[in-house]
Amino acid sequence: MLQTLDASREFSVASLKNKLIELTYFRPSYKFGWNNWVPNKVCILAWRSELERLPVLTELAKRNIGTNSVLCPVCGDLEETVEHCFVTCGLAQSVWQAISLWCKIPSIFAFSIRDLLAIYKYVKFPRKKTKMFHAICLVSFWCLWKVRNDIVFNGKMVSVVNLVGDIKALSYLWVKNRSGEMSISWDDGCGFKV
Ligand SMILES: [Zn+2]
Repeated sequence: MLQTLDASREFSVASLKNKLIELTYFRPSYKFGWNNWVPNKVCILAWRSELERLPVLTELAKRNIGTNSVLCPVCGDLEETVEHCFVTCGLAQSVWQAISLWCKIPSIFAFSIRDLLAIYKYVKFPRKKTKMFHAICLVSFWCLWKVRNDIVFNGKMVSVVNLVGDIKALSYLWVKNRSGEMSISWDDGCGFKV
């Protein structure tokens, strides 16, 4: 007998998508991970991105807030959704690739913002290093959004090298100052190298 996913008794891509969303969003184990080694504003941005509550162009267009195009202002290839900003945009993918190389973990392949926010749970680092890695991921969200806003509002050019440099510098500054671990250095304590 043909298995169906909803009351319509017909298989459809939409019903499959709805079922996946239902399974994902009501998975009881999911909980946003807060991290006090970065400022609250950094955690809140990542938290809002997971809830798709950021003023990206597709969201503004839904509210009839004027914009000529909803194409991503960074790559110009696809519509700018929250997920696109952090997961599928070429710039975001370059950043996650750089972070995985820097932190010496396998390449990051994410299908959703939630995947990105959960990577730290699977990296198998010691406790402090895990928290540091999580902080770096949150700072990456912060810096990607900042660069996106610089492009939209200030017409600035973007450079992956500069962006990754900012992520490293801000992560180091915030973690060192907020962790109480004044001896932390990217070169020894936790093994990351700037
Ligand atoms: Zn893009």
